[in-house]
Amino acid sequence: MPSRGLLLLALMATLSACSKLPFSQPATPEIASQPEPLAEPAILSAEPPKVTIVPVPEVVIEVVNTADSNTPELAETVPEPSVDISFFGLPTPEVDFSIIDLCQEIGDKLSSVSVQDCLDQQLQSTGGFSVLKRPLAVREYPELPQRESLGRVLLIGGIHGDEYSSVSIAFKWMEILNEYHSGVFHWQFIPLSNPDGLLGEESRRQNENGVDLNRNFPSADWNDSAASFWEDKTDSNERRYPGESGGSEPEVAWLVKHINEFQPDVIISVHAPYHLVDYDGPPAAPEQLGDLHLNRLGVYPGSLGHYAGVDLDKPVVTIELPYAGIMPSENQISKMWTDLVAWLVEERTKER
Ligand SMILES: [Zn+2]
Repeated sequence: MPSRGLLLLALMATLSACSKLPFSQPATPEIASQPEPLAEPAILSAEPPKVTIVPVPEVVIEVVNTADSNTPELAETVPEPSVDISFFGLPTPEVDFSIIDLCQEIGDKLSSVSVQDCLDQQLQSTGGFSVLKRPLAVREYPELPQRESLGRVLLIGGIHGDEYSSVSIAFKWMEILNEYHSGVFHWQFIPLSNPDGLLGEESRRQNENGVDLNRNFPSADWNDSAASFWEDKTDSNERRYPGESGGSEPEVAWLVKHINEFQPDVIISVHAPYHLVDYDGPPAAPEQLGDLHLNRLGVYPGSLGHYAGVDLDKPVVTIELPYAGIMPSENQISKMWTDLVAWLVEERTKER
């Protein structure tokens, strides 16, 4: 145990460091204060915004960092929330310790997302938690009041915990959105919807209860088909176990509640490694996002595509990146994004 003196020193250092983090700023200062000279005309004309791409090697290996997440440095720089900081006579900082812990774990696990990259996204706690009580965090990009709204879009990454690239690319796209949010869509990002699956010592597809979350949504056919489909079609593959009942898992129950509250017009779900775009629900699917082409896989009992795309009649775009452990090139990351936004603008303009 560190001495109390050490703890106090560590806490003071942390408070000083925290004061540099953008926690106390408004959620989207860059949107409110900037007219976005670059992005808007380009996006509305369905052309890529002029994203500046720093040349990087064609692929970035997205493998797990080997650093132990319980290093002594971490223990000393992230104080427990229970420490009584009123001792210093300082105001309580508006710091969400559970998000700091989450970002520390994400930064330790993913080579493409640093702890600071994660903290910079100003993820918000939602009151939803995984089985192991990790926060199910959201980043929100509200539409701008002076813009005519084209609707709400929910992007979900990392529902399968061993598909590293599906989490990393959500962070990359948030970085693009931070700079180019046009204000015509109300975005919500859930970059990591299965934190226990990713952040366990060994990442795995399922959640902590061994349930494939993308077979646990309470689709209309869950009771009749989920168990028999799992037994007959997957030979009871444990990686595809649908759970005890539809919506039995806290991560899925939270996603269902969140979808019902947010009422997205479009849901984007990111996976790997099938290298394609899948689509469920109305109206017209995107034919191509970057070098991913439309290839409908159909729906499964308990999948998000079945629950939201078929039962709720909401468009669900499933992006299957080419590799779970290798990030697409920066060029592809940008191209997929601009193609996605162009498709959203086109389809949502028709809807209005
Ligand atoms: Zn997946």
